[in-house]
Amino acid sequence: MDFANQVSRHRLADDLWQLVNVPSPTLRERDAALCYAEMLRGCGAAVEIDETLPESPNVVGRLRGARPGPVLQLAGHLDHIDVPHPPPRREADIISGRGAADMKNGLAGMLEITRLLHQWSDFPGDLLITAFGRHEAPLGDSRGLHNLIARGVKGDAAIVFEGPEAAAVVMALGMSIWKVTMRRRGQACHEMTGPEKGWGLIGALDGLLSLVAEKNRRFGELHNDYPLLPPESVFIGQIHYGDFYNRVPASCAIEGTRRWHPDKTVPRIEAEFAAWLEELQLTPDLNIETHWIRVGESFAIDPAESIVRALQKAWREAGGREIGFSGHSSVNDTCRLVTQGKIPAVLCGFDTETGHADYEFVRLDRMETACRVALSAALNYLNAHCAEDLK
Ligand SMILES: [Zn+2]
Repeated sequence: MDFANQVSRHRLADDLWQLVNVPSPTLRERDAALCYAEMLRGCGAAVEIDETLPESPNVVGRLRGARPGPVLQLAGHLDHIDVPHPPPRREADIISGRGAADMKNGLAGMLEITRLLHQWSDFPGDLLITAFGRHEAPLGDSRGLHNLIARGVKGDAAIVFEGPEAAAVVMALGMSIWKVTMRRRGQACHEMTGPEKGWGLIGALDGLLSLVAEKNRRFGELHNDYPLLPPESVFIGQIHYGDFYNRVPASCAIEGTRRWHPDKTVPRIEAEFAAWLEELQLTPDLNIETHWIRVGESFAIDPAESIVRALQKAWREAGGREIGFSGHSSVNDTCRLVTQGKIPAVLCGFDTETGHADYEFVRLDRMETACRVALSAALNYLNAHCAEDLK
């Protein structure tokens, strides 16, 4: 039987339509979580709601196979960015609405896979379905997924239902947001009374900008040990100096990102950054402080992991194409599953191109193909107990 052919575009569309009509901005995912829990129950899973974070509950579903085998985790986030969007619309071949492409499409796919595996029931191992909130930065802190992993709720491998479609992502950059604040002694004042008319602070700011530009340039020149990834980087997204045309400010601030390769970790990045700032040699009347928001660690998994092979085989057989290995530049939940959960995880997007855009929509034909591939990857993984079976 060709299991992948059982995927129904109509059911995927119905589920996505239901999900996209329950708003779930980051930190306010409760209604969507309760709705998803009901839908997941309707697909045959035993469902538990983890209320550790009452406004952002975790939904945990389990589906037992017919015989012992590995536990495959299907993972997705319930929240979407809190940015206005036109009301959801359902047309013949697309569904639009905030969260449609990031990532209610993937959540709908997780339901369809659960539903079909429940109907067949003749598969080895178990399915663990996890949906959580608090994902989207800057409000999201990934506490939902963090808490699940800390409780030991995780699979032997995972598929995260967002990110690129036809790609076997085996490594990703880590990312932190840094903010440097420089303060001079005294309060903000008139330009005619301020120390050096503020040129000391401007000079320090200028030094910091040049330093960051130089470090970033050097990253581009280094030999890249991870050719699937772009060079490491340090980026500036905001510069704040002053609030009035003739006032000398008491402080200024610069904020940006630092992205790094899988051979480094957060503590090393932060120590390295502190050493850079030492190079500025600021005068004693200036004080400098760095604040970090740790968004996600870098990671790399072995391309021979059976979940990776399962995904490649699925694309070959159910998606009609060969997919090579690739690296991913932005942080997503695979990074938490790999670094905190210590399990291999891959990405499988369901037409995610318009995520975070002014107009988010999903093409149902693309979603159906992605779901056929994901279902077949799940079965490949569960049926293969070692990488050898996936050749
Ligand atoms: Zn997302």
